[in-house]
Amino acid sequence: MSSKMRITVRPKKIVRFSKTRVSFYMKYASVVFKTLRKPLFQKFLDWILKRENIKEHKVTKVQVMVFPFRKENGKGLAGKCNGKGEIFIYPKRLEFCRKLIRNCGKEEGYSYIKNRARATFIHELLHIKYSSDEEKVRELTRKYFKIFTQHQNTQNSNTHNI
Ligand SMILES: [Zn+2]
Repeated sequence: MSSKMRITVRPKKIVRFSKTRVSFYMKYASVVFKTLRKPLFQKFLDWILKRENIKEHKVTKVQVMVFPFRKENGKGLAGKCNGKGEIFIYPKRLEFCRKLIRNCGKEEGYSYIKNRARATFIHELLHIKYSSDEEKVRELTRKYFKIFTQHQNTQNSNTHNI
């Protein structure tokens, strides 16, 4: 699926945002992009597709959005997908990330950002099959995300052993 992934910028927002903000969100998007394209994660997504019997061509495009999306109620949005099989992944806001890094450290901050992107991707992928069944999608996202984390940990400890 990695060939369907793009980083997408809405040019209007670049004009509106300060330089610091733009460069922060650009960097964020590139971290997310790299994380989601990692072979281990891509392999895991393929496995989910098979298990859930979702045809790969149902996913037409995956857009890593550079700027956050704010709903009318002021709340942020992690991701969405539409009827055309396009998946959108949005970042957390700069203020949130700053606070997170201040409170938890850089490493924790990065790992939060990466895990959030992975979970969002899995969540939106499941929406392709379960469309508006939010409860089912949430339950499965939790399940698959847990499996991935455990799998990743074993992989990591294997590398340490070598
Ligand atoms: Zn959902």
